[in-house]
Amino acid sequence: MGVIVVGSLNIDLVVHLDRMPNPGETLHGKTFHTYPGGKGLNQAVAAARSSAATSMIGVLGTDPYSDSLRGVLDTEGINGELIATIEGPCGTAVIEVDSAGQNRIVVIPGANAELDASKVLDQSVGVLRPGTVVVAQLESPANQLTKIFQHAQSAGCLTILNPAPASELSADFLRAIDILIPNQFEAELLTGIEVTDQKSAAFAARALIEQGVKAVIVTLGSAGALYVSQSEEIYQPAFAVLPIDTTAAGDTFCGAFAAELERGAPIASALRYGCGAGALATTAQGAVPSIPLENDIRALISSQGV
Ligand code: ADP
Repeated sequence: MGVIVVGSLNIDLVVHLDRMPNPGETLHGKTFHTYPGGKGLNQAVAAARSSAATSMIGVLGTDPYSDSLRGVLDTEGINGELIATIEGPCGTAVIEVDSAGQNRIVVIPGANAELDASKVLDQSVGVLRPGTVVVAQLESPANQLTKIFQHAQSAGCLTILNPAPASELSADFLRAIDILIPNQFEAELLTGIEVTDQKSAAFAARALIEQGVKAVIVTLGSAGALYVSQSEEIYQPAFAVLPIDTTAAGDTFCGAFAAELERGAPIASALRYGCGAGALATTAQGAVPSIPLENDIRALISSQGV
């Protein structure tokens, strides 16, 4: 049981500066900060802050940043026993933000690229069992994720893929996904169907179900989220909040939704809970610092009752 997040752990190196440098130009920046990041880690933190027994499968390196990310796992109460270590640096994102709020991001996968499904499956005998919810994103190699999902599904786990950053999914991978959670742009990239509202989201979701996934949730930012399966369609409007930074809203939705589903909530309740979590994540700056706790999510839901 519990939530297992298979995915990336990155260190985000964030520089704020007045304007972006031109090629060959050197500029003074204003501030420099390092933050824990990576979609995998964000989603694991979201699940853990929603009180799920959470483990991570991924790869870290031997550099000091990898040690600081191990520290984050400890602080958040995330089980890191299944995280492999390889010689070299962990994943890194170099992020420049100018005074207009525009950003430029370079992601170096580092250790994340070395995820090895056969090693993971050897080490996780007995961990992937009925009732466990396994969540992944696409910052790890898709061929390795496919093998892990196939094994997890046949062991009775529920598999959830957040296809971000979006890229084409193989037929084998699609068949091993119980719930696919794209945002509207990812849904569009995966189907070629322009997603602008609930109706077009349903159309895209049905196209993805025809490709082999069992169910789809399209997250629609300030328009909430739509769940579609063969037999059901459930729309959850967004909660009313004052957003200041939407970074990690989708990651927070995925981790919180997985946590609520794992403790047996029906889909409609887990969808509502995920939307409450995603909404709260937009009300604070940054990724990990903005991820809400279970109590705050429940307080938002009961105060608005949507
Ligand atoms: P991503 O961050 O992957 O683009 P979304 O923007 O769709 O994902 O956000 C995920 C979820 O977070 C949405 O389904 C919604 O419930 C919630 N959310 C995002 N932005 C807002 C917002 N401005 N107001 C309220 N809820 C939001």
